[in-house]
Amino acid sequence: MTAEKILTRSFERPDSHTLDGYRASGGYQAWPKAQAMEPAAIVEEVKAANLRGLGGAGFPTGTKWSFIPKNHAGPVYLVINADEGEPGTFKDRYLLERDPHALIEGMLIAARAIRSATGFVYIRGEYVEPWRRFSAAVRDAYAAGYLGRGFDIVVHRGAGAYICGEETGLISSLEGKKGWPKLKPPFPAIKGAFGAPTIVNNVETICHVPHIINRGAAWFAGLGTKTQGGTRMYSVSGRVARPGVYEESVAITLRQLIYERAGGVTGNGRLKAVVPGGSSAAILTAAEIDVTMDVDGLRNAGTMAGSAGVIVMDETVSIPEALMVVARFYAHESCGQCTPCRESTGWIYKITHRIVEGRGRRADLDTILDVARRGAGTTICAFYDGAVGPYISYIEKFRSEFEALTEAAVAAAPRRVVVSHA
Ligand code: SF4
Repeated sequence: MTAEKILTRSFERPDSHTLDGYRASGGYQAWPKAQAMEPAAIVEEVKAANLRGLGGAGFPTGTKWSFIPKNHAGPVYLVINADEGEPGTFKDRYLLERDPHALIEGMLIAARAIRSATGFVYIRGEYVEPWRRFSAAVRDAYAAGYLGRGFDIVVHRGAGAYICGEETGLISSLEGKKGWPKLKPPFPAIKGAFGAPTIVNNVETICHVPHIINRGAAWFAGLGTKTQGGTRMYSVSGRVARPGVYEESVAITLRQLIYERAGGVTGNGRLKAVVPGGSSAAILTAAEIDVTMDVDGLRNAGTMAGSAGVIVMDETVSIPEALMVVARFYAHESCGQCTPCRESTGWIYKITHRIVEGRGRRADLDTILDVARRGAGTTICAFYDGAVGPYISYIEKFRSEFEALTEAAVAAAPRRVVVSHA
């Protein structure tokens, strides 16, 4: 299986980020077509294409757009989430750097579909070059008359907080407040940015829209699986021969992605585990990689497609150390509003740290599992549920590795465990 390159079709062109380069690869041909369509027809086309959100949640995009209240008299906002912060994920930055006009054209079409006159693009603060490239493209699009005639784009830089990638946290930050998530309902489509109906979409999701309008929903739906159309960009990192971003059909299997695209496993050459969708996804063992990489395929395998950040671990990787690194991340990034999240993430990091240092107790493992399960589903946003996935799956699938590091095991078979963490 070799997927047709759609999002990355022009990445090899040195001028792919310019207006001329974008036009030369067929850009800005979908926008006139969309202008001739009724907004509801655009929504239906995107629904029929089976385009799913590619930022993490995997929600059907056209359905999300249809939640904007009909006949709303005030402003409606389109917000693009370019706060790509999920560990192991680095694909949106390529789109911002190499194909920024695809996002602008996609926003023009999406804005028409939801009747929005203003779009915000919230770019991760660390993404300096993507921000520069995208801002230059916005200026060129204004000069060429694509923007400023019924639709404006505001570029907003974040300050580097992971939680601002959660849609309500992002909206709070955009409004100039602390980037704290809000309870839902009301959902942003009803009451979002500045109190107005708002659609928040990921960069990659919106970059697909011009191609759907140009080539039709049936073509796009046919590229994927029964419940998810198209291709997506997989960020592959860790112990593989050719790490990088691969655009593939969502029907590709994890095994194909690792062995046929990324060149196979390095380290000792034997696969131990894979995180398939960014750090919040439950881990898969080497025996579980014959799974399609679409939203439902990975959900049925007990994990999630998430942001499609694929992290490969060979047999020399310590799973307890990997969990400790993940736990440290969640402890650091919790916004602290909810007690289960604030307290559990901090304590679970401390416990995993002492296990890795050989000072843990066997009961620690059940304590982590118990704490993780009790907190799931009790918090304001999905951040904590995202942390629970790795807490539980790493321990359940690799329990013997954790047990081998606990005090009793270490005392019985002394070994030198060297860990140095700030
Ligand atoms: Fe903040 Fe965590 Fe609560 Fe989300 S779940 S609002 S990150 S404390």
